[in-house]
Amino acid sequence: MRRLILASNNAKKLKELGALLTPLGIELIPQGALNIPEAEEPFATFIENALAKARHASQLSGLPAIADDSGLCVRALGGAPGVLSARFAGDPKSDERNNQLLLEKLAGQTDRAAHFVCLLVLVRHADDPQPIIAEGNWHGEILNAPQGEHGFGYDPLFWVLEANRSAAQMTAEAKNQCSHRAMAMQQLLARLNAV
Ligand code: IMP
Repeated sequence: MRRLILASNNAKKLKELGALLTPLGIELIPQGALNIPEAEEPFATFIENALAKARHASQLSGLPAIADDSGLCVRALGGAPGVLSARFAGDPKSDERNNQLLLEKLAGQTDRAAHFVCLLVLVRHADDPQPIIAEGNWHGEILNAPQGEHGFGYDPLFWVLEANRSAAQMTAEAKNQCSHRAMAMQQLLARLNAV
């Protein structure tokens, strides 16, 4: 079985990605298992941050590595919170304060369009000149007040038109079929199969 380092220690990501990669004969190893510390994410774009994380994990492990970077982009805010999604309202990270700040910034705003983005990057080695890149975008609208109890992050404020409910009102199974992360993973899988 080929080994691939996951540039994250998030158990959910390990499970989701592992389920897709195991059938391809790929064993996914979280970077923490090799004592690899988290990389800095100083860049202004998802792709740059994902690439930096993947390269860092590959450099320190000597193995191929995969990383993701995701967030929410709101049209009326010029794409914010974007790469700052996790810490939109500052430290310490708080979904509740992030959601509150988002509502404040959109007060009186009629354009509520937004999308979640997920970038997945796989490098075969740290200096790989042609990483495999996949991107998923999940479009919706920002509500005026939170709805729903499931999910995490901005899910309670993210209205999914096709489902006629917020992301936090969807079951995990339903969300996993149409989310930005699901789309990026399917695209990555197709690209891996084509390599
Ligand atoms: P990360 O790339 O998984 O660290 O996600 C960055 C941040 O984007 C999270 O902390 C959330 O605030 C937001 N985010 C990413 N994906 C989702 C999602 O599926 N639902 C809600 N918020 C999300």
